[in-house]
Amino acid sequence: MGVKTLRVAGFWAVLLLMTSCGTAPKGRATSTTPTPQKSEQTTWDVDLSRSELGSILEFLASDLLEGRAPGTRGSRVAEEYIKSLFKLWQIPSAVPGDYLQPFDLNGFSARDLELDVGGVTLHFSKDAMGAVLSGEPNPAVEAEAVFVGFGITTPLWNWDDFKDVDVKDKIIITRLNDPGLFLPDVFEEKVLTYFGRWTYHVEEAIRRGARGILIIHTDETAGYTWNVVDNSWSGEKVRLDEQVNNNLKLRAWVKEKSLERALAARGIDLDELYEASLRRDFRPVELGFKIRAKSTLTSRRFQTNNVVAMIPGQSEKQIVLSSHIDHLGIGKNKEGDNIFNGAIDNGSALASMMLVAKHLKEKQKDLYYTYVFLACNAEEGGLLGSKYYVSQADKSKIIANINFESTPVWEKAGSLMGVGARFSTFEDLLRKVAARQGLEYSEFSLSDQGLFYRSDQFPFAAADIPAVWVSAGEDDASGQRKYTAFWSGDYHTVDDEYDPSWELEAMEQTIRATLGLLQLIDEGRLEPSWKDNLTFPITQK
Ligand SMILES: [Zn+2]
Repeated sequence: MGVKTLRVAGFWAVLLLMTSCGTAPKGRATSTTPTPQKSEQTTWDVDLSRSELGSILEFLASDLLEGRAPGTRGSRVAEEYIKSLFKLWQIPSAVPGDYLQPFDLNGFSARDLELDVGGVTLHFSKDAMGAVLSGEPNPAVEAEAVFVGFGITTPLWNWDDFKDVDVKDKIIITRLNDPGLFLPDVFEEKVLTYFGRWTYHVEEAIRRGARGILIIHTDETAGYTWNVVDNSWSGEKVRLDEQVNNNLKLRAWVKEKSLERALAARGIDLDELYEASLRRDFRPVELGFKIRAKSTLTSRRFQTNNVVAMIPGQSEKQIVLSSHIDHLGIGKNKEGDNIFNGAIDNGSALASMMLVAKHLKEKQKDLYYTYVFLACNAEEGGLLGSKYYVSQADKSKIIANINFESTPVWEKAGSLMGVGARFSTFEDLLRKVAARQGLEYSEFSLSDQGLFYRSDQFPFAAADIPAVWVSAGEDDASGQRKYTAFWSGDYHTVDDEYDPSWELEAMEQTIRATLGLLQLIDEGRLEPSWKDNLTFPITQK
């Protein structure tokens, strides 16, 4: 599991004995000894003007950047802008290519899918969504169908749906989510785990050499409606080479009702399959018929870039701060405003990271660790830029990742949150920072939706690097919950637009909290470590 020992226990004992955390003069006592410092009275406080907070965000969210989809002109402008800010603040490049780390993407735009499930035709968009991923214009596959239950194998909850059954070259039909949604005492009950996400199901199908996967959609198991599936496949899907150079060709979703109808025509009862799938002794079921699929799609290969800078400290050990540049681009079939500006997702977050960089640069002479700033690309396509970065990095040097995602832009929050902090000593550190800054520490109420696995901290975590998404909380001083409302409102719509009336106080809190966290780690020479409660596998060392 890669669970490390709690190296900071002694330090925490010292901190717990100290009761006062009042305000203190700026700056810190310098020391050359490698032992933790008791400098908790100092603070890396900074002046942040409102125009400074708003300017980067406003530019990133402007219509001229056309929604910053990877491989577009708007994306290139955003990359150059970020690079220019690093240069302006004299923060050097961390990669050979003058701040730009290029990587290849494979883009697929599906226009039709002919799907035959045991002799019953299912229709594109109405019954099923997806594609046979290939560089050809009309790729087709045909293979035996196997129902694999939830399609999950993990020692964490001693759950194995596949047993010794070989599904190589088969098309697997899988339930979404995990058994915890239906059963007590397995997985994290109603909390969506890593194993419940569709991305895991696809990765497991690839590992097992399957020819295709049909993911059964229900509102309950997906946590979103069929419309979301339909919309997300109506634009271009992007993938890294490693994700498409394998045996898995058909990748599609099917509506539960449509699948039920197709199975019934063969005398198979979907409810009975579901019932069996809730048992630990479940084994994959050969359905005795073939699935045939033929796609109409266009594909292209193109390059995009991460933008990477660093502030070197005394040590070569690195803390990587990350935040994604990209958003959803321009909606093709929409009338009126069709630009997905992504002001909050992820303009405010990227602006927050950039301002942390700017102000950390002012402390460079005091820094122990080296700080890398990763403005990554193609997050919306499945965390692709951060995945690529992690795959190329010297991971032995990276001790932690701090990510910024959709940073709140409204009034002051009463709390600080760390998505995924509970898995590591980051939670203890953030509680300490919150207390110092007069804030509560809280869990994000939407964490149940698997948010830790859904932004750029996750590729770091999966590579055994303690990681966290830091943010001001959702409890606005006025008692409103604008941030919570954002996630079920403007999130991933064309209405995620810059509003000059935003207070930007929560963004300021996020920046201050991050600087406070970095100060605590840097002065203490701490290395965040995992706790023994990980609910995801370490897949890359
Ligand atoms: Zn985002």
